[in-house]
Amino acid sequence: MIFLDHNATTPMLEVARDAMSDILDKPLNPSSVHGCGRMARSYMDNARKQIINMLGVDSRDKQYNLTFTASGTEANNLILNNYAGGDVFISSTEHASVEMPAKMMPNTYILPVTESGILDLELLDRALAGSSARKKLVSVMLANNEIGTIQPLKDIVRIAHKHGAQMHSDIVQAAGKWSINLVDCDLDFASISGHKFGGGVGCGALIAKANLHIQPTILGGGQERSTRSGTENVLAIVAAGAAAEHCQHNLDQRVEYLSCQRDYLEQELKSKFSNVQIVNEGVERLPNTTALIVPEKSASLMVVALDLQGIAIGSGSACSSGKVSKSKVLAAMGYDDSLIESAIRVSVGMQTTRNDIDAFLDAFASVIS
Ligand code: PLP
Repeated sequence: MIFLDHNATTPMLEVARDAMSDILDKPLNPSSVHGCGRMARSYMDNARKQIINMLGVDSRDKQYNLTFTASGTEANNLILNNYAGGDVFISSTEHASVEMPAKMMPNTYILPVTESGILDLELLDRALAGSSARKKLVSVMLANNEIGTIQPLKDIVRIAHKHGAQMHSDIVQAAGKWSINLVDCDLDFASISGHKFGGGVGCGALIAKANLHIQPTILGGGQERSTRSGTENVLAIVAAGAAAEHCQHNLDQRVEYLSCQRDYLEQELKSKFSNVQIVNEGVERLPNTTALIVPEKSASLMVVALDLQGIAIGSGSACSSGKVSKSKVLAAMGYDDSLIESAIRVSVGMQTTRNDIDAFLDAFASVIS
């Protein structure tokens, strides 16, 4: 199988696998008082530092706290649910794990994006100015999972803070593929997910400024400084920590490698297929993501036909049942339904070779002909 769906998940990095396999047979419950518990706590503390450092924060400064969760989805739900009584402002292209909890709240404002998928900053400014709520949260993702577009986070934070709102960003897709500095951006909260940067499934995290209290939504034994109860998944956490450290130290090479593969793919697509449209070409995007539209071809049929030829790609937004649903991101950007139904996503990873891309291009040619 040639795997070109790295935004869905990406294989574990070797360092993450090694870190996990080194402790696979140990009884690791960080709440235990005995030596094994202490060992588990020290593994977790180390992983916490590795992940915080990846986000441009010196973990020794203790400016941010990190709460481990089971997934990026849980981290997003945790922060959104903390603002249930306040006004919540999100963009129209957020991941379902931000959008759905936000929509459960009475005072959520979904703000439009421009035709390139960038949040309309003027409208954000006006919407916040009209809010008299005591508690206000703006939640805007750094990089979009379907089209890779990067939001001007610093500007968004500045506007949010000007109006007394706190700022959360879902940085799940950006971590490991884009330079992130929470301090520089002055972000209040961020969510990450280990399996998107080579740490394997089972570890997410909510990172919060140390002076901002998070109300738990899962109660029990009081783990994670009582912010999220439940015995921590030490194996996944250690793997995510190792992957984070690797991504931090190799970010430039990673970005260069991914953009080189992605640029090759896009050049070949443009030169070989005159009818193919690349979404947001020329707009600042993740280095590994290409969303493309093949007018009059069905996305689901293209995905299935490529799958039959041993090539895995994504389409619109694949929902949990494995079915293909209509991309609300492209809809929010103003694309016609007919084009949305013809949109597929190719996302390359560190394992992707030029041969893989050539194989995709050959299969793609036969599928659309
Ligand atoms: N946020 C974004 C932007 C994502 O792409 C995803 C997963 O696709 C998530 C959140 C959810 O992360 P997880 O799979 O860890 O629940």
